[in-house]
Amino acid sequence: MSTVIIDKIKKEIAGLDTSSMPEEVGIVTTVGDGIAEIDGLKEAQMMEMVVFDDGDGKSLEDTISSDDALYGLILNLEEDVVKVVVLGESTRVKEGMRVLRTEKLLSIPVGEDIIGRVVSPLGEMIDGKGAIKTDKDMPIERVAYGVMERSGVNYPVHTGIKAIDSMIPIGRGQRELIIGDRQTGKTTVAIDTIINQKYEPKDSRPICIYVAIGQKRSKTASLMAKLEEAGAMEYTTIVATSASEASPMLFLAPFAGMAIGEYFMQQGKDVVIVLDDLSKHANAYRQMSLLLRRPPGREAYPGDIFYLHSRLLERSAKLSKELGGGSITALPIIETQEGDVSAYIPTNVISITDGQIFLDTDLFNKGIRPALDVGISVSRVGSSAQTKAMKKVAGKIRLELAQFRELEAFMQFASDLDDDTKARIDSGKKYVELLKQGQNAPVPFYKQVVAIYAANNGIFDAAPVENTRKIEQTYLEFIERDRKDILDGIETGRELTDEIVEKLNKSIKDYKDAHKNNYEVVE
Ligand code: ATP
Ligand code: MG
Repeated sequence: MSTVIIDKIKKEIAGLDTSSMPEEVGIVTTVGDGIAEIDGLKEAQMMEMVVFDDGDGKSLEDTISSDDALYGLILNLEEDVVKVVVLGESTRVKEGMRVLRTEKLLSIPVGEDIIGRVVSPLGEMIDGKGAIKTDKDMPIERVAYGVMERSGVNYPVHTGIKAIDSMIPIGRGQRELIIGDRQTGKTTVAIDTIINQKYEPKDSRPICIYVAIGQKRSKTASLMAKLEEAGAMEYTTIVATSASEASPMLFLAPFAGMAIGEYFMQQGKDVVIVLDDLSKHANAYRQMSLLLRRPPGREAYPGDIFYLHSRLLERSAKLSKELGGGSITALPIIETQEGDVSAYIPTNVISITDGQIFLDTDLFNKGIRPALDVGISVSRVGSSAQTKAMKKVAGKIRLELAQFRELEAFMQFASDLDDDTKARIDSGKKYVELLKQGQNAPVPFYKQVVAIYAANNGIFDAAPVENTRKIEQTYLEFIERDRKDILDGIETGRELTDEIVEKLNKSIKDYKDAHKNNYEVVE
């Protein structure tokens, strides 16, 4: 347990009037599987911390003061008993032991210093770099902000992924689900989004929080290495739990992540939080609930799983100006089984979020990566947060891809196509190519705008489909080297002014002139 919290509890307990103790003391009646059932504690609250008195004759105050004090978390309030999960070595808990209320809800220590660190859901630093200096903590559960305290989503979170930023734009304060079968690139989309924030101006760059829920330790470690290599740990916190941990830890992880996010949001800052993933979270909650002997419901999940996830995601918000205008953008991840989005947990989370990015196994295997299924991916609030520049160029992509999908189905049967149809198919294929992107290589929005504008204005026209990505790359290199003012203009102005359009048209012409004869062999 974090020392900050323990110190705080010690202080609070020191002033307690022990004559009122009977209300505050319970007795362990049964214990097992890390869960203790306690008689008494009539006034206890949900998510409150309790401390176990190991009966060595010490006073309660001394018990709490001891360094190895053992804490529990109240998760069930029943008529005669409360059930707590033991946060620590549960073998130390014995029947007949006394238990003391702390009147404090589970909290996590937070501060500026938490950025760049790896923490457990209980706020312990687990990266071996010592505790953080702070005296502030945040409860890991709190009621979400109400409608009057919020404002509209109007500023983008750029993911750096062309297919998303152009067609499924995400706004700051939005909840966008990333959903797909296993190994379809879900985590990669989220990590690339975090990496892409390095292109945002420092003063408005979102703070990122990655919550690993029951992921393999090795996966989380390599993910952190990637973030470090990209320079993204400078603005990122990782809340880590692994598959080998007890289910309550996995259950607490996203709530702890949200609490950290809220700390920054309340200071008027923007936060992006990735919850990887809520399927594992639901499983952990199911397991924990069975141990707590809560009745199972649909697909054996406890009946309040929907409420659990909605109250978690509801905390993602864009705050009003009066409250500082901060935001939390949530990117929960859900793993589906064989693309089945109609299973219980996927439908729940789809209905709670403001849209979904659907990743498809077939597309992934065909080499279309990111494997985004454009047909069923949506963002319900994002387009109001898209930059004007992006809005101007993005419309055409959607149209081209939609036409292409229709023609593609029909293509297999037609042997003899007219020239117009052939041209459309060719163009559609090039857009598909344009939207392919390697992992951990997010593209800042101003470069995306330039590339898409060039595609819309015929830069690929004379070239074979196979050369699309190479042309895009060499064209962007040329712009960066010789026409940097175009990129700067879009980055700062976020608009395609007539002046920029003129420069873009000229750059396309110049590029094409320079490559007139070697479209086949663009090196
Ligand atoms: P899991 O279900 O195991 O959590 P996931 O859906 O999160 O998987 P990732 O781990 O992101 O998927 O990616 C799966 C594999 O695909 C990884 O080996 C990753 O390197 C690769 N991959 C992901 N995105 C791309 C991409 N755009 N280009 C090439 N390879 C990619
Ligand atoms: Mg993953």
